[in-house]
Amino acid sequence: MRLLSLLFLVAVQAAAQVPDSGRWQELRFSAQEVGQLSEEHYIEQTVSLAAAGQLDRDRVLLARVQRIANGLIRVATTLKPEAAGWQWEIHVTGDPGVEAESQAGGKLLLGRSFVARLKLDDGELAVLLAHEIAHIVAEHERETLSEALLDSHRDLPLEVVDERLASDIPLQLRLSKLSAIQEREADQLGMLMAFRAGWPCSAMLRFYAKLAEDSAGPTLLASHPSGATRLSLAKGMSRLLGN
Ligand SMILES: [Zn+2]
Repeated sequence: MRLLSLLFLVAVQAAAQVPDSGRWQELRFSAQEVGQLSEEHYIEQTVSLAAAGQLDRDRVLLARVQRIANGLIRVATTLKPEAAGWQWEIHVTGDPGVEAESQAGGKLLLGRSFVARLKLDDGELAVLLAHEIAHIVAEHERETLSEALLDSHRDLPLEVVDERLASDIPLQLRLSKLSAIQEREADQLGMLMAFRAGWPCSAMLRFYAKLAEDSAGPTLLASHPSGATRLSLAKGMSRLLGN
């Protein structure tokens, strides 16, 4: 039993590489335990949205989002083969507080009012979804939880680290540099996936231009880089992908 726990410990103390960017990550929790915790959060969130009558009421948008996401998930599995075994799930909510969110292991939530505010066409919606799917493929949540554990300099259960991450502002500030790296990486990897799924570079440019214009109002997560920075990255990616 002791040997088994030791092996488990060795197995999760691993360095991994993000697909495409090749950036190294220090991972301390297993993908399985992080996926399980995320699933619990996701179920809690979707059940409470459903109880408030704010889940998947717009069937047309849900079908549209599922169709676009399926193509992107197919590309994601070519970059990360184990993603084919994840329980991918996507829902749409009428809650105006939700823009676009992702959770480890394949969980996505999209805000109907955000899509309407930006008047996103299919290609632009693909770029938004690809950014969220890129966070999942690059295992950003698992990496952030692992870094939060390393920050504590002692062994703590995942649930404790997760709670601390949600409430400890100095800890969030210490991890803000990592968060900025992850956002830029999700933009870049997302654009690559959208392109490989058949969406043109013009969709990337339109999406990030709309986001930059929208920055005056409530924006897609305050931790993201400025709209202008993201638009200039999209221009660079568009030249790189040559279309
Ligand atoms: Zn993001």
